[in-house]
Amino acid sequence: LSFDQMGLKDELLRGIYNYGFEKPSAIQQRAVMPIINGRDVIAQAQSGTGKTSMVALTVCQVVDTASREVQALILSPTRELASQTEKVIRTIGDFMNIQAHACIGGKSVGEDIRKLENGVHVVSGTPGRVCDMIKRRTLRTRAIKLLILNESDEMLSRGFKDQIYDVYRHLPPELQEIVLGAKSEKGGGGQSIILHYLKLKKAA
Ligand code: AMP
Repeated sequence: LSFDQMGLKDELLRGIYNYGFEKPSAIQQRAVMPIINGRDVIAQAQSGTGKTSMVALTVCQVVDTASREVQALILSPTRELASQTEKVIRTIGDFMNIQAHACIGGKSVGEDIRKLENGVHVVSGTPGRVCDMIKRRTLRTRAIKLLILNESDEMLSRGFKDQIYDVYRHLPPELQEIVLGAKSEKGGGGQSIILHYLKLKKAA
C-alpha cells in the first residue's frame, strides 16, 4: 500500500511527501486504513517505527478543518512525546491549515487558554494538563470524535490512571479510540496493551 492508495486528502498527501516520506512504514501500512475508516484500533510498536507519524497523519485525515472545534485528543505520558506529536501534526498538516496545540505541564496556562479560545482542531497533551483544561471548560470536548492513548502502558506505569479516567468522563460516548503501546513483548501478542486498556476502562 502506498500513501497514494490510502485515499488521503490531497493537501495531506502534499504534507507527507514534503516532509520526506515516500512510503508507509510497517505500522502505517497496517493501522492507517482501519483508523481512517473509523475503527477502534489497539496496536503495539516500539518507538522509532513510525508510530508518531502514523498518529499525526491519521489525525490530519480525520479532522474537518472547516470547524474550529477540538475533534481529536491525543494523550501521551511525557511532555516531550506530546510536543513532538503536536509538531509532526503541524508539519504534516501544514498545507491543510491544521491548528494543533500541545497542552502540557510546565508551560503557561495563559498560553493554553489563549490558544484554545482561538480554536484548535487537535490537542496533544499530557493527562494532567489536559484534565485541568477540561475542568476549566477551556478545552471543550463535545466535538471530540477521536481519542488516541499514546504509549498507554507507559501512562499507566506513570500513574496517570485517575487523570485518564477523569478525561474519559468528559468525552462524548460516540468516540473512536486508538490505544497504542510502546513496549515490546516476548511473543508479541499485544495482550498487555489490552489488559492495560481494560484497567483504564474499568476505572472509567
Ligand atoms: P516516529 O516513530 O513516527 O517518530 O518515526 C521515527 C522516525 O522515522 C522519524 O524520524 C520519522 O520522521 C521517520 N518516519 C516515520 N514514518 C516514515 C515513513 N513512512 N517514511 C520515512 N520516514 C519515516
